[in-house]
Amino acid sequence: MGGRDCGSDRGVPEGSAYTGRVDRRTFISAAVALGATGLMCGCARLSPDQLAAAALPVASLAPLPVTAPGPQAIAFDPSRISRQSVPNGSIYELPNDNTDLIAWTVDDGFGDEVTQAYARFVRDSGIRITFFVCAEAPGWSHSAAILRPLVESGQVQIGNHTRTHSNLLNLSDAEIQKDLLDNNALIGNLFGVDSRPYFRPPFGNYDDRVAAAAASVGYTVPVLWNGTLSDSGEIPPETLMSFADRYMRSSNILLGHANFWPVTVLFPRLVGVLEDRDLMTVTLNDVYGA
Ligand SMILES: [Zn+2]
Repeated sequence: MGGRDCGSDRGVPEGSAYTGRVDRRTFISAAVALGATGLMCGCARLSPDQLAAAALPVASLAPLPVTAPGPQAIAFDPSRISRQSVPNGSIYELPNDNTDLIAWTVDDGFGDEVTQAYARFVRDSGIRITFFVCAEAPGWSHSAAILRPLVESGQVQIGNHTRTHSNLLNLSDAEIQKDLLDNNALIGNLFGVDSRPYFRPPFGNYDDRVAAAAASVGYTVPVLWNGTLSDSGEIPPETLMSFADRYMRSSNILLGHANFWPVTVLFPRLVGVLEDRDLMTVTLNDVYGA
């Protein structure tokens, strides 16, 4: 499973991690055994040249939602958070003493319109979210005017997903560092923040060498996940909802993607799941300080 290719950007993720409930302990022990590589395919595998050309599929012409949840659909109550110090190393889930919290994280931004729809959704709903951006994907610059005030208020956090979205296992230490720092400079230009110490290695692929190379330039916390919407590629909306039902759970770090249209027609229903379960969304900074 560790060598499983994440496949095309259109492929539906497959594998045991997606077809059955992932026992947390099994997941983590397996992740350690594999060096956390290839366990749960993270993101669409696009080359840098494809980033700008990653146009939405024809199906994306389906209408984006015209109604959004009302402002502050999920009230943010900091007293529900048991704040922790910044982790020393990778994280897969929120601390256990943080109940009824969920860290919704969203990667990539390869769908321009999808990224913009996410930005409007976050603004209009009050959802707190951490975006792991590949800052050259055009959706981020097109969304910066909406997102920047949300970043300043702390509702939105920006993490680093590298500039080129490469498999870091295949890069030299210097290349890893450049990929992260180049992206961080772009993030600074777009959002006025430094994304350190949090980064998400593309595809979840990293090992001790990669972690050390990243840490040497300030990226000390690889952020993995223990729940996924499995939408790095395009999947049917109802399939995405089934993953939401499975993985929108207390203490989870949830992985989603701003790549393909289905999530954009599901925003109100996703908020409904959070509300039904009384889950409060948090950024990493909300829980870990910064
Ligand atoms: Zn990715």
